[in-house]
Amino acid sequence: MNRSREAAERFAERRRREDEAPRLRDVVPTLTSCRIEVDEARAGVTGAEVSHTRRVVVAHAPALFIVPCSDGSCRDGGHDITHDVLRGLRESRAEISGQDACYGHVGNADCGRVLRFTAFADYQAST
Ligand SMILES: [Zn+2]
Repeated sequence: MNRSREAAERFAERRRREDEAPRLRDVVPTLTSCRIEVDEARAGVTGAEVSHTRRVVVAHAPALFIVPCSDGSCRDGGHDITHDVLRGLRESRAEISGQDACYGHVGNADCGRVLRFTAFADYQAST
């Protein structure tokens, strides 16, 4: 299987999971806005190499938080932070942070890139 075919299949798989996931709005109805800051570092290296912010479109987003691995040579990697983020959102926490090691492989070795994330969320005031 060549690389572009593989990439296309990974993309299709991700789309399928997103389509099948419940909507974020249904899981956390009080959520009004959410952004997630992530930074990623190679295993054993201190200091962030990659850092960016993901804005979550609350009205349309699936309740699925998967951050692709930023290492271009990593195969089947990524970070699924869905569980941690959803748990925090359900508890109406304004700030949710955690970390996750990539489960992919580079060559014959584990990728092991570590993603640290902090999600900032706003909720409807309960009146
Ligand atoms: Zn990786």
